[in-house]
Amino acid sequence: MKITYSIIAPIYNEKENLPELHRRVSEVMQSTRKTWELILVDDGSTDGSTETIRELAKKDKHVRPVIFARNFGHQIAITAGWDYARGDAVVVIDADLQDPPELIPEMVKKWREGYEVVYAVRAEREGESWFKLWTASLFYRIIYRITDVKIPLDTGDFRLMDRKVVDVLKSMRERHRFPRGMSAWVGFRQIGVEYKRAARVAGETKYPFRKMFRLALNAITSFSYFPLQVATFFGFFSAGVAILAIPIVIYLRASGSQAFFGQATTLIAVLFLGGVQLISLGILGEYIGRIYDEAKGRPLYIVREAPEEKEAVISNQ
Ligand code: UDP
Ligand code: MG
Repeated sequence: MKITYSIIAPIYNEKENLPELHRRVSEVMQSTRKTWELILVDDGSTDGSTETIRELAKKDKHVRPVIFARNFGHQIAITAGWDYARGDAVVVIDADLQDPPELIPEMVKKWREGYEVVYAVRAEREGESWFKLWTASLFYRIIYRITDVKIPLDTGDFRLMDRKVVDVLKSMRERHRFPRGMSAWVGFRQIGVEYKRAARVAGETKYPFRKMFRLALNAITSFSYFPLQVATFFGFFSAGVAILAIPIVIYLRASGSQAFFGQATTLIAVLFLGGVQLISLGILGEYIGRIYDEAKGRPLYIVREAPEEKEAVISNQ
């Protein structure tokens, strides 16, 4: 059967949100009068979401469950969704209904106009702490400044992509991934539609600070060498200071001044340089660790249950 729309929702402990998600997505998609499927990627849920997904799939043939063997993370769940999607247009949506399914027809309209990527821009956000808003805003702006790809500001993973784009993304099997950056990187004709990001319907965020930090690190290391360049910059900077300091200190000594005498000065200089060196090593380590992960060539995810009819076999190249 030919499918026009694939809706992908990554699920990690979203039991209470699933029936509502299914209801709202079905309502919107039925109104399009085209064939569609809802791919629910269970990212190792432990709250019984898995059973709910199975029940939904039994009742409604539009639902196709992909069930992971463990928690692999939001980004990887989205990737599995891309792999299994069969539609001509593929939409990624959060399962907590912070992204309104009702925006999909508007995205479809842009897609029909010929845009291959239609991303949703968060014009307003509701029900999130000031800390989350502030860190998210800072994050988008830092990424925008230091990476080579111009990832649109204030956009999440909620977006519609054409089959052509999804096929390209499917061939990008990097381990530490930042899907919204990848979808900006591929090019094509892209456009944003604005929406108001609602509060979570039920449950709490699955993105504690630790995970947000990881995501930010993945985004930066996947799309920029900036941290490595900072290390180089510090190297030149301290070498420059040293070159300037040598004649000054010689002059001061020759003229009998007491400045820069004593251990404190030496200690501060050694500690400062030691710190810079360790930080630079850490940055190098981050990149090398990522190379090591790629070199191992493990599969991106492991599925326990998946639909039989699938577009992609899990590959690890
Ligand atoms: N999610 C996932 N795996 C994870 C963490 C989150 O599949 O390890 C899903 C989660 O179920 C939700 C989406 O990713 O559908 C976004 O997560 P969340 O709403 O917690 O993030 P926030 O909106 O707070 O940034
Ligand atoms: Mg959310």
